[in-house]
Amino acid sequence: MEHFAIVGFGCAGYHALRAIRETGCEAEIDIYSDTDLPPYNPMLTTYYVAGRLPYEGLFPFGTLKEIGKQYHAVFRTETCVKKVDAARKAVMTEDGKEMLYDKILISTGASAFVPPSFSGLKDAHCMRTVEDAVKLREKLELRPYKDAVVVGASMVGIKVAELLNRRGIHVTLADMAPHIFALAAYPEVSEMIEERLIKLGIDTAFGQAITGAEEHVDEDGRVAGYTVSLGGGSRIETELLVLNIGTRASTGILDGAQIRIDRGVVVNERMETSAPGVYAAGDCCQGNNLQSGQTQIIGLWANAGVQGRVAGRNMAGSADEADGNILHNITHFLDMDFIGLGDNRLTGETYVYVNREKGFYLQAVIRDGKPVGFNILDNYGISGILKAHLIRMLRGEPCRFTPQQRGQLLRYGLERQFMDYLEAAI
Ligand SMILES: Cc1cc2nc3c(=O)[nH]c(=O)nc-3n(C[C@H](O)[C@H](O)[C@H](O)COP(=O)(O)OP(=O)(O)OC[C@H]3O[C@@H](n4cnc5c(N)ncnc54)[C@H](O)[C@@H]3O)c2cc1C
Repeated sequence: MEHFAIVGFGCAGYHALRAIRETGCEAEIDIYSDTDLPPYNPMLTTYYVAGRLPYEGLFPFGTLKEIGKQYHAVFRTETCVKKVDAARKAVMTEDGKEMLYDKILISTGASAFVPPSFSGLKDAHCMRTVEDAVKLREKLELRPYKDAVVVGASMVGIKVAELLNRRGIHVTLADMAPHIFALAAYPEVSEMIEERLIKLGIDTAFGQAITGAEEHVDEDGRVAGYTVSLGGGSRIETELLVLNIGTRASTGILDGAQIRIDRGVVVNERMETSAPGVYAAGDCCQGNNLQSGQTQIIGLWANAGVQGRVAGRNMAGSADEADGNILHNITHFLDMDFIGLGDNRLTGETYVYVNREKGFYLQAVIRDGKPVGFNILDNYGISGILKAHLIRMLRGEPCRFTPQQRGQLLRYGLERQFMDYLEAAI
């Protein structure tokens, strides 16, 4: 009987296990996880901290016992993998054990990146894991805080800023980039969001490097606050510091001489790495970006699920492919919705549509007669259809909206003329 290993048990690892079993494959499967928790959804961590989600809500696939019963596997929990020898297909754990496998999936995800200038801080927070969420929630419940600095104006940073703002804490959102959502929003849209943040009492400090932070300790040895230094020479005094500076793919267990690694583990459409029998899926890997034709990490929940399923089916011997994805972000925060579809660095003619009655703003960038990206403010209802449309266009597939899609787009306030234009763009 074949013997598989899944290293890392988040969204990608879970979907791989499920897909392997759903093909009827009876291989023995060892699952290595550095925690004793079931797979969790990192994007729900801020909801838990905000008290809007119970602890159990962080685990969308149930308990390990439930998962084990349904998709039988050996769970090696609280077992950190130290090294994967891709040539020998060996998994080595921190306790010195080694096991050989027929096939291995690397689904180790990503971890919060803390630059060296912040690495000595004892009490600053990140937001990625369940432990991060529990730690911040406990801290906020301990005493009232007046102010906080959130470094990193990304999708994660804004969710942290939101939950602190909702608690009545004065937030300064800081980023080296000149605008919020630098990797997803067009400058005009960022400016609109920033104006709204300021109206909500959130200060912004953009376009300046955050060079470091000094921790202040009280007479009991507890961290009482920070002085945060900005590149322009200014400083911000704050009680609470949360760092959401970015993530790094967790690839340290692999040897770049054995397996191709760029920013993540490079995979093909079957989620195979350059090492035979070794697969990768989720935030640790670099799959195809349909728009650029290059491989890129697209660190999104649904993407991790699709990649995990494709990897699982291929491991089980049922051929399957994921041709890739586009960069996209769909985020709800502070009573607004921001949707960014496509690479926001691509330039072209700008089409703007404002529907005051429905209260939304849409900006499309058109290049060579075709849309290459959309930013939408406050209209969640059209995002899925436009995203699917953009993907179909990039695949060269027929781009007609179904009558149901047209109905939905109309209901949500998009004009017929724009739909006709999008259909003709192919
Ligand atoms: C606050 C926040 C908000 C987000 N918002 C969104 C959003 O709005 N939309 C969206 O699509 N995505 C969002 N994301 C991203 C999304 O959560 C990730 O893309 C997705 O969870 C990736 O799943 P994964 O299985 O690849 O990795 P992970 O969930 O990181 O799972 C990897 C697992 O592997 C374990 N592991 C790592 N190394 C080892 C080792 N050496 N040995 C054993 N185990 C190991 C890790 O501990 C972890 O449990 C957000 C993320 C965060 C943090």
